[in-house]
Amino acid sequence: MAESDRERRVIDEVTKGLIIGGSVRDATDGRTFGVEDPSTGELLCDVADASPEDGMAALDAAANAQPSWAATAPRERGEILRRAFELVTERADEIALLMTLEMGKPLAESKAEITYAAEFFRWFSEEAVRISGEWKVNANGAGRVLVTRQAIGPCLLITPWNFPLAMGTRKIGPAIAAGCTMVIKPAGLTPLTILKLADILAEAGLPDGVLNVVTTSSTGKVMEPLIRDGRIRKLSFTGSTEVGRKLIEQSAEQVLKTSMELGGNAPFVVCADADVDEAVAGAMLAKMRNIGEACTAANRFYVHADVAEEFTKKLTERMGDMKIGRGTEEGVEVGPLVEADQRDKVAELVDDAVQKGAVVRTGGEVPSGAGYFYPPTVLADVPTSARLAKEEIFGPVAPIFTFTEDDDAIRAANDTEFGLVSYLYTNDLSRAIRLSERLEAGMVGLNQGMVSNAGAPFGGVKQSGLGREGGSVGIDEYLEIKYIAMNV
Ligand code: NAP
Repeated sequence: MAESDRERRVIDEVTKGLIIGGSVRDATDGRTFGVEDPSTGELLCDVADASPEDGMAALDAAANAQPSWAATAPRERGEILRRAFELVTERADEIALLMTLEMGKPLAESKAEITYAAEFFRWFSEEAVRISGEWKVNANGAGRVLVTRQAIGPCLLITPWNFPLAMGTRKIGPAIAAGCTMVIKPAGLTPLTILKLADILAEAGLPDGVLNVVTTSSTGKVMEPLIRDGRIRKLSFTGSTEVGRKLIEQSAEQVLKTSMELGGNAPFVVCADADVDEAVAGAMLAKMRNIGEACTAANRFYVHADVAEEFTKKLTERMGDMKIGRGTEEGVEVGPLVEADQRDKVAELVDDAVQKGAVVRTGGEVPSGAGYFYPPTVLADVPTSARLAKEEIFGPVAPIFTFTEDDDAIRAANDTEFGLVSYLYTNDLSRAIRLSERLEAGMVGLNQGMVSNAGAPFGGVKQSGLGREGGSVGIDEYLEIKYIAMNV
């Protein structure tokens, strides 16, 4: 089959309607919106554009399904997740192509995301049967204390475009394991991957109404009534801090339990005693994974003056050698950014740094032609007044700052309202521990450039968010503790 035929087939096979109560429907007013390929700017297909009434219908379906779903045996919930893990893994090629088409990342990156995403289903399939409680004799010996953990209730899940599958499975997995029903709203730029996943979950045996999918271009208008409706008991959001703040405010009305996975501005600290080759390899991962469009992306490199030139030279060589192109092409390592606005923002941040004195070691110019490409860029001698020292870049740009004292590096690393992840490279064990403890972040990559792991608690401090996803605590976000005081 010709490549373009295969692409067409993968797009054609995706459900384009709203998935509500197990049925696929058009939006009530018949409206649709377009999904485009960021490598060409061309339309891939149209999907249903939900109205507020459609959003409410999805909530009705989730609320109706909640009691029977919460009563389903944990083993059954776990087995549905396990089957979904297997189906996602079996269909990795097809899902990867779909994801690359709507989001732009190279196929190899899409496949890596699918492995990561599927792992949340496997992990939570194992957690579903381990929801435990507590039983103890009262201190005074008279009564008993019984503590149980129950499904919190219908959840609203809102996901971003940068990891279209994993940001969904990281929420859907624990919600299914805990016995919660859901309404999910994927990002408008990348709705197709979640629609595909919903079909897979139905095939894996997920009952109608447990997962309802709403795609819309009127996001605020459709989401706000759900957040303010007393039936939603949990809001789990991954996206920008700006939108997250607004959603926390809206959630206050019904005192919703919220999980907020928000923006990052990760520092990457390379000490004088670090293994520079290892640090460069880690920097490539921390910077270039997902074309830099990751909340965990290294945003600021603080490199000790003794190794700064060696590190900069080696990173420049590696980044300058990367193959740019359409994500579906063989050997491509850098696809387009997701949309024109995103590319323009990255270019603006680089131009601002250069105007203020940064030196471009590679990249730094928007290429001509179709698609929203931006080349891997290394900037040296970046002044601290540059906007990218404070703002999340979300693109393939590595600004390098130098330091001579650890204290200065840590102070600079922590000088941000964000606190998702920090990276630290050093070969000195006690320095590694001391500095890791001082970094204000929910996660630290110590001599490694990637922290994402379904079995570990992912999340940030400060304005990077609230709550944790994955690990043994991930399911707690979807459970409520109930204590029964027993008079025996
Ligand atoms: P975004 O603009 O905040 O959008 C995220 C999601 O929120 C999308 O589904 C979006 O829908 C929806 N949304 C936007 N406005 C809304 C509103 N008023 N009410 C309800 N929902 C609303 O973020 P993004 O640009 O897609 O994603 C990039 C950001 O996500 C970065 O800041 C990144 O750091 C962060 N992120 C964080 C993590 C983490 O785990 N901490 C992981 C990945 C990404 P539309 O698409 O329809 O606008």
